[in-house]
Amino acid sequence: MEFDENDPEASADERINYEAAKKSIVDLIKAVGEDPERDGLKNTPDRVARMYTELLSGYATEPSKLINGALFQVNYDEMVIVRDIEFYSLCEHHMLPFIGRAHVAYIPAGKVIGLSKLPRIVDMYARRLQIQERLTRQIADFVQQTLAPQGVAVVVEAMHLCAMMRGVKKHDARMTTSAMHGAFRANLATRQEFLANISRGSEPLQF
Ligand SMILES: [Zn+2]
Repeated sequence: MEFDENDPEASADERINYEAAKKSIVDLIKAVGEDPERDGLKNTPDRVARMYTELLSGYATEPSKLINGALFQVNYDEMVIVRDIEFYSLCEHHMLPFIGRAHVAYIPAGKVIGLSKLPRIVDMYARRLQIQERLTRQIADFVQQTLAPQGVAVVVEAMHLCAMMRGVKKHDARMTTSAMHGAFRANLATRQEFLANISRGSEPLQF
């Protein structure tokens, strides 16, 4: 599925084709030498197609509806940090899950966003076929475009099942990525304040 990663609106019209997904799972079951008609597998194509509709629902999220009036004018210019936003995504190379948490911070320039919206922004981009680097960048760019703040910082930590299950090098399964705009990029002290905050008292990722 193609979409312009720089344009959050570009993918809004993408929808999962349930029938096509279901048929492809039948084909996949056959291709691995199994019988799609046997009891345990009979309903699997339906379940898997529905599952992908849910796991890949981010393509259908309309960014303007997601924000839905949750932007507020304020006189506040201190750092806002939301830590430990849990997410589940699918790596686009293997279509296996990568699971982790995102930390999002921004410094307002007159506008803030309702706190519950940041996890929904993360979900909108996580529930697609993704790579962690792009997920991180898209979250940061969306907050930047929506709030035009003094700065945005996003750090994403995740465990990649494609690395863990395929057992090549299990210690490479955990990855951290970051994307910074504005003050977080320009100002070392600002960046350090954010990084110190998100590392304070946080448990290492475990699954
Ligand atoms: Zn992968």
